[in-house]
Amino acid sequence: MRLRNIKGAKEAVAGSPCCIPMPQELKGLWHTVFLNEHPIHIEIGMGKGQFITTLARENPQINYIGIERYESVLIRALAKTTEQPLDNLKFICMDAREICDVFAPNEVNRIYLNFSDPWPKDRHAKRRLTSGAFLALYGQILSPDGHIEFKTDNRGLFDFSLEEIPKAGWRIDAYTLDLHQDPSMNKGNILTEYEEKFSAMGNPIFKLTASRAKTGSLV
Ligand code: SAM
Repeated sequence: MRLRNIKGAKEAVAGSPCCIPMPQELKGLWHTVFLNEHPIHIEIGMGKGQFITTLARENPQINYIGIERYESVLIRALAKTTEQPLDNLKFICMDAREICDVFAPNEVNRIYLNFSDPWPKDRHAKRRLTSGAFLALYGQILSPDGHIEFKTDNRGLFDFSLEEIPKAGWRIDAYTLDLHQDPSMNKGNILTEYEEKFSAMGNPIFKLTASRAKTGSLV
């Protein structure tokens, strides 16, 4: 998703108290932003922010950080919080490849990846947010009991992820090929913008959760 050339997007992001301009300076110090020691959950590639904004509103005991590469997209998430700012929600405009410059080891307790760009060409596989290259980065910042939650409607990307995650030494704890018809995995599910759009078109939604526990991967 890239909304190009939205006039004033850069300035709006830079001027918003919800956005963190120099996140590298907060590595290991995120509790000083939230003024508490609550767990930190991040969403990488949050797009227009419906998912993380809803989660933050429903779970004040958790701190949320939404990461999005483009200001032109992030500005849409800002619009959702301007009227009702949330103390437990911050945004960062950056490429997830830099995530280890921003979070210290074990500082993050959960990572959400929702409808990540599929990068269908083999030569772009490393850019997929569930590639071994990204999993190695997540492994550095995620607490030992933390986990990843990944949703998509893209079967190719999902199959790739089911193979790639155990190959990278992670464990698939649960997965479904039809989230909205799976009562246990769908419990408390928050829809993202893409999820709303694609499920309205009749596409099944795939979901997996993964952790670094040593044994018992389902795949
Ligand atoms: N998660 C949202 C949803 O489900 O509605 C948006 C999905 S959209 C297909 C993927 C988003 O991830 C885009 O907004 C894109 O800019 C962002 N993105 C992709 N790669 C990224 C990266 N390496 N770092 C940060 N954001 C990224």
